[in-house]
Amino acid sequence: MTALASLAAAGVGAAAYPKCTMAADIPDFTLRRKRVKNLRLTVKAPHGEVVVSAPRHVPESAIVAFVSGKASWIAKHQERIAGQPQPLQPGPATEALRRRLKQSAPPMVEHWAGVMGLATPDVTIRRMTSRWGTCNTQTRRITLNLELARRDVTLLEYVIVHELAHLIERGHNARFYAVMDAHLPDWRLRRRVLNAS
Ligand SMILES: [Zn+2]
Repeated sequence: MTALASLAAAGVGAAAYPKCTMAADIPDFTLRRKRVKNLRLTVKAPHGEVVVSAPRHVPESAIVAFVSGKASWIAKHQERIAGQPQPLQPGPATEALRRRLKQSAPPMVEHWAGVMGLATPDVTIRRMTSRWGTCNTQTRRITLNLELARRDVTLLEYVIVHELAHLIERGHNARFYAVMDAHLPDWRLRRRVLNAS
């Protein structure tokens, strides 16, 4: 009862201010009505757009309160996204990165293939949007995302060992993770850093 009363009182107090003052505290967001169970809030790259998925029965006032309560969380994630490098565009700078990765990746692939008891696979470097690397086990070709040229070398190393591990075990299963654990015990930490970058 107390919580309800104070909520009502706050509402009355807020009404005395111009509407824009209130809106300034609430991050802009896009509302998507969906068949979801709970309210879900995501901050999307590359522009930090805030998207709220809400069940149809949740009133807009509750959604606004929810978003408002998450304001600092949203700001933190928008800051993080703003700090992320923008996707590579074709041009001389990108070509310089490609040359750098073409120099650094193959020796690392060769080294790790040797450590893991594998024949050295072919390496391709490409701009990719949704993956850091792929491994075609049939053609024995590893493809690395050009973005890795802008990441720490330890993260490139993680992706290389991950893709090589697929030449031992195709799926992401216990056997695969055992291979990763055996060769790169801190791979989980590296994955976390890579996926946060
Ligand atoms: Zn994989």
